[in-house]
Amino acid sequence: MTTTAATMDKLTIKTENKFRTLATKQNYKKGEVISAIPSEDVRDHPNRYTVQIGHDKHTHVGKLAALNHSCDPNVILDTENMEMVAARDIEKGEELFFFYPSTEWQMDAPFICLCGSANCINVVAGARFLPLSTLERHYLNPHIRDLMIELLKNTKNNLKKIKS
Ligand SMILES: [Zn+2]
Repeated sequence: MTTTAATMDKLTIKTENKFRTLATKQNYKKGEVISAIPSEDVRDHPNRYTVQIGHDKHTHVGKLAALNHSCDPNVILDTENMEMVAARDIEKGEELFFFYPSTEWQMDAPFICLCGSANCINVVAGARFLPLSTLERHYLNPHIRDLMIELLKNTKNNLKKIKS
C-alpha cells in the first residue's frame, strides 16, 4: 500500500467549477506504469465514481475517479493487472484521460463527449452501445471482450424465435 500512496503523489487533482481533472506531475514514456489502480470498495453496480473490473465488479478508485474520458486517450486502465499505463509519451502537467468504454459495459451516467477527437464517439454510455468497428481501435479489458462475445452468442436465440 505504501507504494500506491507514493505513486499517487505523482498525480494531482485540479478542480474548476466542480469539474475535476487528473494531471501528472512528471513525464512518462509510452508503456510506463503510472500508478496502481486502487480497489477500495467493490460493488455489483456502477456509479459515476466507479471503474468496472469484472462482470459484476465495480470498484471505487480513489484519486483516479478524477480521470476524465477521451476518445483519443493518453492512458489505459489495465484491470487485469490493476495498473494505469501511459498509452503514449506524456508530459508533466498534462491531463490524463482514458477511454471509458474500455472498462465500462453499461454506464450509470452516460454523457455527451466533447473531446474534439476525429474519432469521437459522441455518446459515452458504455461498450455495449458502440459498434465493433469503433471498439476494435481501442484496448478493451477482458471483461468487456467477454461481455461482447456473450452478447453476440445470444443472437443465436433470434433464429430460435423465428423457427418457433
Ligand atoms: Zn470524444
